[in-house]
Amino acid sequence: MKQGKLLYAGKAKSVFHTDKKDTLIVEFRDDITAFDGGKKDTLKNKGSYNAGVSAFFFEHLEKHGVKTHFLEMLDNRRMAVRRLEMIPLEVIVRNVAAGSIVRNYPFKEGTKLDPPVIVIDFKDDTRHDPMLNDDLIVALKLATPAELKAMKKAALGINRLLSALLAKQGILLVDFKIEFGRQGKTIRLGDEISMDSMRLWDKKTKESLDKDVYRFNKGDVMATYNRVAGRITNAASLPAGTKKKPAAPKKGAASKRPAVAKPKAKK
Ligand code: 5GP
Repeated sequence: MKQGKLLYAGKAKSVFHTDKKDTLIVEFRDDITAFDGGKKDTLKNKGSYNAGVSAFFFEHLEKHGVKTHFLEMLDNRRMAVRRLEMIPLEVIVRNVAAGSIVRNYPFKEGTKLDPPVIVIDFKDDTRHDPMLNDDLIVALKLATPAELKAMKKAALGINRLLSALLAKQGILLVDFKIEFGRQGKTIRLGDEISMDSMRLWDKKTKESLDKDVYRFNKGDVMATYNRVAGRITNAASLPAGTKKKPAAPKKGAASKRPAVAKPKAKK
């Protein structure tokens, strides 16, 4: 597949046309940002960790009947995806109170939310991604009531699948943000699911294993991404209770399999 012109460059990913009309390439760059781009850095290999974890999750979800945009990995930071008409909504699923709902509402951090809480934000940096409700989403013609229902149902299904997968590795899925798009009449999961878009806590220690490490200067971001990517991508291949191996570095030519970048020596 031939990579074509740049279609769109976001804060951490670039999207390219290809020689196939309905296929795009998503490149996960090493850029990391927080607070609406107020904090910015470039961290070597970060893109490949997020690409590898995203691809791993997309494959797992597809295997369990969730429609996604994922087609294949082209190398360790570029994935071929189905072209979607993206819906500018951030669908956030919360299992435990943390982040903005603790700042904005009287929840104590760490409170279990059962059933999970779905929050939908308008993807609009200039307005700081304001929270929407169903009536606003429909009035703004961002999605139809049927599409909204389908996205919420898919989001809860994804939450069940990923919570169970991560639990096998002793990781608590606190919350995550996903985005959907349309392929004709079909709603598919797009964008990414990675350490940048999830809140992950170690079940035992409650240590942050995600972008909060970067947001709040909690430690070495790349050491954390390296460790958690290894833990996540080994999860499915091991029977429950088996001790995991560290993620093996990929040698030689570009792999078509979801890859985790070479583990770096711990600083
Ligand atoms: P919060 O609303 O607490 O800031 O975020 C809830 C969850 O959604 C967190 O896992 C956070 O990483 C993710 N999230 C919220 N907004 C964004 C965003 O604009 N970009 C990304 N990548 N993740 C987001």
